[in-house]
Amino acid sequence: MWKNMGLTGKIMVAMALGIILGLFINYSGLNAEGGFVNTYITNGFLAIIGKLFVNSLKMLVVPLVLISLICGVCGIGDIRLLGRIGTKTFMIYMFTTALAIATAIGLGSLFGIGKGMNIGTDATFEAASAPPLLDVFSNIIPSNPISAMANGDMLSIIFFAILIGVSILMVGKPAKGLVQSLELINEVILKMVTIIMNLAPYGVFALLTKAMADLGLDLIWSLLGYVAVLVGSLAFHFFITMMIVLKLASGLSIKTFLAKMREVQIFAFSTSSSNATIPITLRTVTKRMGVNNSVASFTVPFGATINMDGTAIMQGTATIFIANIYGIDLGVTEYLTVILMSVLASVGTAGVPGVGLIMLSMVFAQVGLPIEGIGLILGVDRILDMLRTAVNVGGDAAVTAIVAKSEGKMDLAIYNDPDAGAKDVFDGHIDEDNEREFSEVFSDGIMGSEYDDVDRRR
Ligand code: ASP
Repeated sequence: MWKNMGLTGKIMVAMALGIILGLFINYSGLNAEGGFVNTYITNGFLAIIGKLFVNSLKMLVVPLVLISLICGVCGIGDIRLLGRIGTKTFMIYMFTTALAIATAIGLGSLFGIGKGMNIGTDATFEAASAPPLLDVFSNIIPSNPISAMANGDMLSIIFFAILIGVSILMVGKPAKGLVQSLELINEVILKMVTIIMNLAPYGVFALLTKAMADLGLDLIWSLLGYVAVLVGSLAFHFFITMMIVLKLASGLSIKTFLAKMREVQIFAFSTSSSNATIPITLRTVTKRMGVNNSVASFTVPFGATINMDGTAIMQGTATIFIANIYGIDLGVTEYLTVILMSVLASVGTAGVPGVGLIMLSMVFAQVGLPIEGIGLILGVDRILDMLRTAVNVGGDAAVTAIVAKSEGKMDLAIYNDPDAGAKDVFDGHIDEDNEREFSEVFSDGIMGSEYDDVDRRR
């Protein structure tokens, strides 16, 4: 049965099994520190498999973003059009993030979360310093592109790639061969994504079993009000608000969008990282939804870096919750400040696990809430991070689809074909024709002649 199942099915089964097994390990007490299971299974075998899987995704992020974006810029061809797409994408990202926080604040206030709750306000939280927002902007131009790539500084990489693309366009015709080569490299990297996607069921299983075994769900019950409103706001924003925006702005089928997003969201959920999910998001929107690479290669990494609807929702909900617990009244000005700060904070939040919480201290500082209050929600944040990351990447893909459709850069036949891109799986077997052709070229052609020369010289 497992053999005949499609990849999405396998990933979903792996997710469910991981959650069930992880919770079992947690509740049965098997995960006690120092015990066999804790040492060799959760912190041993599963940790290694999970890390290998996340590393294999991260490994592709920088080369993929760099090469696909250079190709994307060359594909657009018109520098002004590039500016227009950039501005439009940025505006929609900011608009939808503001909608997200408004939902969180609305629902949080409606249910009065945290009001009258007595969980003690003696929490402590040592806020790691959030990167100053000015740095986020001034680092857009890297002083050293190689170190930007080594550090995975996404905005710097985006800038550098666009600059290369624009310069290639200026060189014009003579650079045609270069662009063709880059496009081939891009295809090769996407094939690598395909290979790694086939490992996803095992990676997802390991990550989720470990996460659930370590975290359990106990803490959630003690903060049920906060968790319920946060999860409700995340679901409302993604399934209702974003889908209405998608339908109104593009007319695309919501059902198709949600079905094709499933895999991407499971990846985001299990890795808690929009950044690590970039290869899968990019592959899905281009190969499965028919978005032209000229749009997706920019909107996806840009979104993974600056567009965090789920994170903004957490920040809005947490603000209301903590304010209520400490009995601090927030007025209209404070609410507006929260909206503005959360939008900015989500821009400054890198798409890696847990950063949203660090940026929350910036929001709290602005509205005068006690930063140590963050300590109260710290325990549940790891699990909620998984959920909000799934919403973060969902927003990136929805806006990508909207922008692509409005620019006429979307192949609707691909979007509407449920199987598009789904069959491109790697089962360890390479197409026989390809194999033969390559072995002929390499053994007789390139390698062969070189060796002949070497032989002759001898
Ligand atoms: N983990 C989130 C992401 O990668 C960021 C955060 O909210 O901490 O999208």
